[in-house]
Amino acid sequence: MVEVISEEYRKANKKHECDYCLGYIEKGEFYKVSTLKHDYVYRWKSHRECEFLADEFHRSGLFEDYGNGMVQEDFEECVEQVHDSFVNPEYEYGSTFQSRLKEVYNFLCENSIELEITKSYGMAFKAVKREQPVILDYMQGE
Ligand SMILES: [Zn+2]
Repeated sequence: MVEVISEEYRKANKKHECDYCLGYIEKGEFYKVSTLKHDYVYRWKSHRECEFLADEFHRSGLFEDYGNGMVQEDFEECVEQVHDSFVNPEYEYGSTFQSRLKEVYNFLCENSIELEITKSYGMAFKAVKREQPVILDYMQGE
C-alpha cells in the first residue's frame, strides 16, 4: 500500500516536472506536493489539474488501484482512454499527449465519468454532464 505522509500546495519557486503528465510546472504556479511511502519515502509533484484528473480516474473506477497507487503510465492510459472513448476517437494529425490531456481536462470539468451496469450485467463507462462545471480552487499561501 502507498501511505500518504503529507500533502500540501506550494507555489513553485522554480520550474518542476509534473509526475503524472511529465509536463512542466511553471515558476509561480500552484502545485501539489505529496510525501508518500511505498517501500521508501518519496515526493510526488503534480499540476493541480492533473491531481483533479487522477482523483476522477480513481473515483470513477476507470483506474483500479491494486495497492501500488497511480503511476505515470496508469495516468497516461486513463487520459488516452477518456480521450478515445469520449472526446475524440479519430486520430488527429499533430496531436500530442499534452494536447489530448488538455482536451480531457476540459471535458472532465464539464462531464463526469460514471460506471454503468449494463442490462447483461456487464460494466461500461458513460459520461454524464455535470450540473455545475468544475472550477478548481487554488489554495493560496506559500
Ligand atoms: Zn501534470
